[in-house]
Amino acid sequence: MKIVKIAHYREKCIGCNSCVEQAPDNWIISKSDGKSVLLGSKLKKDIFVKEITLDQLDSNIKAARDCPVRIIKILK
Ligand code: SF4
Repeated sequence: MKIVKIAHYREKCIGCNSCVEQAPDNWIISKSDGKSVLLGSKLKKDIFVKEITLDQLDSNIKAARDCPVRIIKILK
């Protein structure tokens, strides 16, 4: 199954919850700082990166599209 990478530039997150609504399997809001967390991601040079499977792609494309500060990137 093809794997796609997504990236979260978390520092600029404003905690709007939109990504959680679009892709609740991959995103939650942190109770400690109010920003979203890309579940299962790894921190690489200030960017949280995660590999997702194709069945998770559509919901994360929507999350990236609707993020008001454009900090979710689909890397392919
Ligand atoms: S949609 Fe963007 S700004 Fe809103 S919580 Fe998710 S990553 Fe943060």
